[in-house]
Formats: sequence, C-alpha cells, structure tokens
Amino acid sequence: MKKFLKILGIVILIIIVGILGYTYISFNSYSPGKVEYEVDQSKMKYFEDSYESCRESFINSADMCCERFFKVEIFSKAVPSGVDSTLKIDFCYVPAQKESKKLLILTSGVHGIEGFVGSAVQQMIIDQYLKTGMPDDLGVLFIHGINPYGFKYTRRVTENNIDFNRNCDTEMTLFSSENAGYTDLYDMLNPKGKVISGSLKNKFFMLVAINKLMQESMSALRQAVLQGQYEYPEGLYYGGNNFEPQLSIIGEVISEKSADYDTILNIDLHTGYGARGVLHLFPNPVEDLNVKQKMEEIFTGYQIDWGDSDDFYTINGSFSDYIGKLIPDKFYLPMTFEYGTLNSQTTIGSVKSIHNMILENEGKRFGYQSERDSLKVLENFVEMYYPTSEPWRSKIMNDTYIIMEQLFDRF
Ligand SMILES: [Zn+2]
Repeated sequence: MKKFLKILGIVILIIIVGILGYTYISFNSYSPGKVEYEVDQSKMKYFEDSYESCRESFINSADMCCERFFKVEIFSKAVPSGVDSTLKIDFCYVPAQKESKKLLILTSGVHGIEGFVGSAVQQMIIDQYLKTGMPDDLGVLFIHGINPYGFKYTRRVTENNIDFNRNCDTEMTLFSSENAGYTDLYDMLNPKGKVISGSLKNKFFMLVAINKLMQESMSALRQAVLQGQYEYPEGLYYGGNNFEPQLSIIGEVISEKSADYDTILNIDLHTGYGARGVLHLFPNPVEDLNVKQKMEEIFTGYQIDWGDSDDFYTINGSFSDYIGKLIPDKFYLPMTFEYGTLNSQTTIGSVKSIHNMILENEGKRFGYQSERDSLKVLENFVEMYYPTSEPWRSKIMNDTYIIMEQLFDRF
C-alpha cells in the first residue's frame, strides 16, 4: 500500500510538472504562425515607420487626387495636447462629382498605433480607387490618425490613457456605464511595479489566466475585459470620464460633410484582433434590420462577425456607433475592419495579446527593470499592431483591395 501511494505520488508529480512545463513552453515560445502569401512589392511602399512619414504620404496621395476630381478638400486639424503641439488629424474629402447620394467615411488610427496599417490602407484606396470610373454619386471622406498621440508614440490609447474607441458618444451617460466583471479581473490586468519580463509572474502568466478561465468562460472573460471600463483611469480599456478633445473636432467635420448625403457608410480600420492575416468584418451589433440587411448585401460573400457572436465582443463608446448618433436622420451603416495578427480568437493567442498590453501599460506606469525588458515588451507590442511580415502586409492589402472593389460596386 505504501509503495502504491509512493508511485501514485510520483505519477501525480510528473503530471503536474508536465502540465507546468507544457504551459510554460507553449506560452513563452508562442508564435501565431506564418502567413503564406506571395509578397506584393507594389504595396510595400505604403508602409511607413513614423507618424510623420505616414502623414506626409497620406497628404501626398490626397494631393494627387485633386488632379482627378473637382472640389477636393485637404485639411488638417490640431488636437490640443499637454505634451506635444504638433499632433494633427488629416482629412481628405472628395465630394460626389454629380449628385450627392452616398458618402463613404474611411477612418484610421482610432487606436493610435493601429494608424500605421490604417494609413497604408487609406493611401492605397486613394491611389487605386479614386480614379475616373468611380460612381459619381459617391463622396469619400478620409480621416487619418484620429488618435495622433497614440500614433506618434506607438500607444493604443490617447495621452490620458483613454481608449478612444470606448470614449465616443453624444451623451455623458456613457461614463456611468458599469462593468462589474472588470473589477474582478483588475489585479490581473493592472499589476504594479517595474516590468521584469522574465519574472515568474510573467513567465507563468498563462496559469493565472487558466485559473480565471476555470471560473468563467472565455467569451465572458473577453467581454468583461474588452467592453470598456470607466472606473480605473490607470487601467487597460479605460473609456475616460469626459470626451477627448478630438471627438468634437471630428464630429463637426462629419456633420458638415454628411449633410448633403442620404446614406453614409463608415469603415473604421483596426488591427490586432482575430486570426493572423485575416480581414475580419467586425461591427458592433446593429438593431435596425434594414441597416443589417444593407450591410450584408454590400459584403455578400464575406462573413460578418457581429460583436455578439461567440469569438467576438461588444463595446461601449465605439467611434463608429458615435457617427450614427451624430447623424440620426441618415441611413447609416457602421463597419469595422479588423486585421488579425496574433490569432486572438484562440485561447492562447488571446492570453498572449492581453499580456502584451498589460506589460506595455505597466511599463508606461512604473518603468522597466532594464533596457532589455523595455525593448522586448515594446517590440512585442508594436509587432502585435503593426506586423513587420511582408506576406502579412501583402495579404491584408490585397484582401482589402478586393473587398473595396466589391464595395464601390454595391454601396
Ligand atoms: Zn483597434
């Protein structure tokens, strides 16, 4: 009996060590895999390495477009800031050339760091689609770099640690939205102290997450973390307690430009959520069946991941929904393009993604133990929103090209 217990003890120990080892290795050597796709060199020129060069290229593309259309307007608006007086949002408005019926509003950089890919996509669309042959009852408004602070300083949030895509509404009641699930996860999401990327806490972060997963389902956790919170200004996914200054600046332009049109479609460009190299159509759920039907018609042949489906989530204070509230008498279609990078639809990809964000926010708040820790964390963070892989870049550009071709046809 004693011998049996001893053997049983050893077996249990081996199983525990095995599970720990497996979790440790699979989490710390995690890779979302390669995107197999032929590199399209003609698209690489759109990818720039700084906020300033993205702005410059966007304005250049917009300038070229003036030669092809009448009454194009290109202008910039400064965003008030306590840390940088050069932050600007750029606009390019190409009005419908004959009859104003439909307006496409293509927006980038709501999450600052995602502006690099957003800028590349916007430039490509100006270059490739805004040519003769475009429907003459269609106007297009490009808004570039909506969160210029985050864009310039490679953060997702604004300078006030606000997730701008949780900060948009026409009513202040947004800021009293509750998120009890977040409070339960607060300590996991917002650790305190200098970042040591090789600490046990970080190396075994997957176990902490598994522990939470044993109490709640993945979709419940995802929802609690991602929907936005208005209680902890230092925390992840903070939506603020007041509107960020660019909201009214952009709101004014959108109200003015959309006045002449009946139907308005917004495509808000994002990166970081979903399967690597895949363009997800990921709008918040819409209640109006006519709107839903029209969106399904425009994007026929594509799967629309409405935010309330299993692997996705709904959010409060979204920018795209805000536009609809701003122009309630228009037929308004809110769409989000989300280019996946880390396979966040899988459990491990999703834990890895949130861990990258946790470390970046902790580093911003408390600093890093060493230069090496800082480099490592920031490199992972940037890679998550702006992948260096050329096949990834080629694929998302070509997929966007194809979907836009259909869109100009069907919208
Ligand atoms: Zn985003």
